Amino acid sequence: MAHAVKELFPDAKLAIGPAIDEGFYYDFDIDRAFTPEDLSSIEKKMSEVIKQDNPFVRKIVSKENAIELFKKKGEDYKVELLEEITDEEVSLYEEGGFVDLCRGPHIGSTGQVSAFKLLSIAGAYWRGNEKNKMLQRIYGTAFTEEKDLKKYLDYLEEVKKRDHRRLGKELDLFSIGEEIGAGLIIWHPNGALIRRVIEDFWLNEHYKAGYKILYTPHIAKLNLWQKSGHLDFYRENMYSPMEIEGIDYELRPMNCPFHIHVYKTSLRSYKNLPIRYAELGTVYRYERSGVLHGLLRVRGFTQDDAHIFCREDQIEDEILRVLDFTLFILRIFGFEHYDVYLSTRPEKYVGSLENWERSTNALKRALELKGLSYEIDIGEGVFYGPKIDIKVKDSLNRPWQCSTIQVDFNNPERFDMTYKGSDGKEHRPIMIHRALMGSLERFFGILIEHYAGAFPLWLAPVQVEVLTIAERHADYAIALSEKLRSEGIRTELNIDNEKIGYKIRSATVRKVPFLIITGDKEVSEKKVTVRKRSGENIGPFTIDEFIETIKNKISNKSLKI
Ligand code: ZN
Repeated sequence: MAHAVKELFPDAKLAIGPAIDEGFYYDFDIDRAFTPEDLSSIEKKMSEVIKQDNPFVRKIVSKENAIELFKKKGEDYKVELLEEITDEEVSLYEEGGFVDLCRGPHIGSTGQVSAFKLLSIAGAYWRGNEKNKMLQRIYGTAFTEEKDLKKYLDYLEEVKKRDHRRLGKELDLFSIGEEIGAGLIIWHPNGALIRRVIEDFWLNEHYKAGYKILYTPHIAKLNLWQKSGHLDFYRENMYSPMEIEGIDYELRPMNCPFHIHVYKTSLRSYKNLPIRYAELGTVYRYERSGVLHGLLRVRGFTQDDAHIFCREDQIEDEILRVLDFTLFILRIFGFEHYDVYLSTRPEKYVGSLENWERSTNALKRALELKGLSYEIDIGEGVFYGPKIDIKVKDSLNRPWQCSTIQVDFNNPERFDMTYKGSDGKEHRPIMIHRALMGSLERFFGILIEHYAGAFPLWLAPVQVEVLTIAERHADYAIALSEKLRSEGIRTELNIDNEKIGYKIRSATVRKVPFLIITGDKEVSEKKVTVRKRSGENIGPFTIDEFIETIKNKISNKSLKI
């Protein structure tokens, strides 16, 4: 591709162009933005280079010679890269007169490329640093067989269709406003309603599982984060402090210290444990603007957070409970497949090696007791303890990090937490941090993509829409919608003077699960005919029959409509 670009745009300077999981990209410094038409002509040129079947020739040259070569070519970025290489010699690859700095290996010749496609154009800062020049990046992919390329392109099409940012706009779920600030989510009525339903469900299940619910502030004294270790280990994700009456305060990046505070407001005995505090806690973390992405990577989000304080002899049982709880919640939302990871001690950590080993073993034992297969992610634990991460697989089989369970022997020590044991002496409780959905924003983004916006009935912002075929059916339709609403079913009414086909299309675009279409027959027989989101018609039912069916499906959180 770089060869083709250089032939078509001789002034373009080459930056870097690595292979990535999904294919490859190359960054160019060029004084115009590439257009989709450019991509087509680059593709055409690439096909010519492929047809020439030029062999790739590897050359080892001294670093000085390479610098001289690229200086002569005016390839300043290559020169900059070369100047940082410490090796005496570097490898170059040449094909059809085009030379590039590359470690290799390469395929034998250009003719071996059989199926490729340039996918997109993006701006990218040189070396990912927003202080550097913005370059033009072209993404592409290549396969050994045409059919694999086609399969991949179909998949990309499906990904595009499910993009939560697009659906978020189409279904009026949420927005992110320039005037509000990057990475800050505004939940619109439809999205807010879904969130509320999720929160109510979450709350109920937590009460049932023996949790107590807390509300705690969004800011607190900076000292708190010094004590928790966040200031030393997590500072790059925290915002600058604000001063209030001479004391520094900080937007909270985590909820943990608040829950510790509640624990410490009373004397605790071994008989009180475990204590489980849960909170839908909103936190704020600094993310570079370049990595922000819709609902998936944001600067302010609400964790479905909880902290369990228990005795050492209770750890295993508590982790098992959390695992069960997590899998239950994920299943309700339609996630049946997941990958499990056990993340161990990172390079920067607090606490004793002995504590790390004890907590890692506790997590391992719980996973084994549960019969869950897992992979070990070496060094990926949090600074205060090891963790279990669960990545759910969505309907396109893409993994998403959601749930996390962390064992922490360190914060109880840092905050001097105690309980009175059966021996009358003071002991340290163990702390378990956990989030099941992770963050509501991110989880919502995943749900949108998983369902392509066609939410299960219990989550759908509008569950039933009543439509009239003609004006004379309006009274019946109004009575039906009022009846449905009074039964707690989220209902909308469309008695506009429009063609029924148009009304159905408009409700279908909004992915409303059930449409009740009222015409002469329905009015005279006092029945309802129902059109499912899939286009299938069911009925006729009496309104009471329909209400019973739909209420059952809602209360069972049925995924099928
Ligand atoms: Zn925590």
